[in-house]
Amino acid sequence: MTSQTLTTWDARADALSIDGRAFVDGRRTGAASKKTRIVTSPIDGRELIALSACGAEDVEVAVAAARRAFGAWSRSGPESRKHVLLAWAALLEVHAEELALLESLDSGKPILQTTTVDVPGAISTLRWYAEAVDKQQGEMPVVPPGATALVTREALGVVAAIVPWNFPLEIAIWKLAPALASGNTVVLKPAEQTSLSILRAAELAAEAGMPEGVLNIVTGSGREIGAALALHMDVDALTFTGSTAVSRTLLEASGRSNLKRLSLEAGGKSSNLVFADAADLALAAEKAAFGAFYNQGQVCSSNSRILVQRSVHDEFKSLLEEAAQAYLPADPLAGLGGNGALISRGHTDDVEGWIHRGRSEGTVLFGGGRLDIRGSDAYLEPTLLGGLDAGHEVHREEIFGPVAVLQPFDTEEEAVAMANDTDYGLAASLWTSDLSRAHRVAGELVAGTVSVNTVDALGNSTPFGGFKQSGFGRDLSLQAFDNYTAAKTTWIQFG
Ligand code: NAD
Repeated sequence: MTSQTLTTWDARADALSIDGRAFVDGRRTGAASKKTRIVTSPIDGRELIALSACGAEDVEVAVAAARRAFGAWSRSGPESRKHVLLAWAALLEVHAEELALLESLDSGKPILQTTTVDVPGAISTLRWYAEAVDKQQGEMPVVPPGATALVTREALGVVAAIVPWNFPLEIAIWKLAPALASGNTVVLKPAEQTSLSILRAAELAAEAGMPEGVLNIVTGSGREIGAALALHMDVDALTFTGSTAVSRTLLEASGRSNLKRLSLEAGGKSSNLVFADAADLALAAEKAAFGAFYNQGQVCSSNSRILVQRSVHDEFKSLLEEAAQAYLPADPLAGLGGNGALISRGHTDDVEGWIHRGRSEGTVLFGGGRLDIRGSDAYLEPTLLGGLDAGHEVHREEIFGPVAVLQPFDTEEEAVAMANDTDYGLAASLWTSDLSRAHRVAGELVAGTVSVNTVDALGNSTPFGGFKQSGFGRDLSLQAFDNYTAAKTTWIQFG
């Protein structure tokens, strides 16, 4: 890292011109109430923008725009939508550095991550769905003689998408790409903390030729406009990523309004099972550190519960401590590796509370410190807790920060029982060189994704979502189209 790099990202941040207005019906627009909310960066507390604080009346305007745009967009055909989405992806690529900088400033993520993972990942997902949509096929089921039946997938209409702050652009695109590609129009509500990247991306969508009203971004509070979208009678489907608590309110809202289709990606508490017969314990430790501490540990499928067979427990712990050094926080704008800031000081206080509990009721095996970087104290060391009973809350509750817990086990059955002893079922990982064990344990684990000899595996072509209270519906892969389409049977009687 040279001081020139440092100056460059800082200088670019200073020179950025940011627009904090919502994006409705193809253009930037402030809240009808003219209300705004000041957004600051967790990196250093700098004031970023006065963001539109939209209200229920802005939701009405956005939903009406999406409804008006639906007919023409859904009838335009998959190939035509593919061209618009590919043009959008190309423009996102042209503006990738700007988007990455907005994402870092808003969320506290290191610029090295947003430039190499978040923004390229979002673009790759967008291209994947653009390319997939005109290769779908309908069905022609067998019916009695004298008739022909066709089963086609139809767009649902107006989709509301509500997304969290941990991967703002990526998760927004996970929702938008399949929803738009399959012919729906969308009103998306980003998290209050992180609206800037998707607002700028929406502007680029318009530049790429996306018709007015097809994509709308309303910014503001979840309680107010999130709830208004959930209760709206003219929203046909709602796709959500966020907490299990908010998921419950959305289920109720759907029931109280128009039974809108829901897909919910909620919280998680995922385990990483390291068996003594793992082929490469150092690799397992390196990946375990990634699984627990990457993105400041603010990952819904974070493998924050590390279960290690007793005979390799101590060796693994030392290897993990070494591997965790890669996630020590550093200046997010310096272009370095390492973690960035957590989403806010308040959230850092909450996560630190778990470290205090770990210290008083168990042991802090490494880490535990809170650091001051660039005048902000939203930075935490990667931390490992131990000596806590397997039933302790630390093993069961989502912490959503760089805090993992280590627990020894003796037998395979014990490890599986511990891993499944949670209300969540989003992900799990396991390390073994025994093929039979790999299949057996993967089959027993109740999780939407089980990674074997890696952690938290994820790709555009594989479904991502949960069992149990981690929600239902799947993001990514062709299965995501199920969130935004319904099967339609056309039965033609001719005999
Ligand atoms: P959150 O549930 O508080 O907020 C998520 C979104 O919902 C935000 O846009 C927020 O404004 C909105 N919201 C809040 N209250 C609402 C309400 N009453 N009605 C409608 N919308 C409302 O979650 P968060 O703190 O932003 O994100 C962290 C949570 O997200 C964690 O629990 C994490 O596990 C989860 N998450 C899950 C996945 C997954 O794929 N399963 C991915 C990322 C994050």
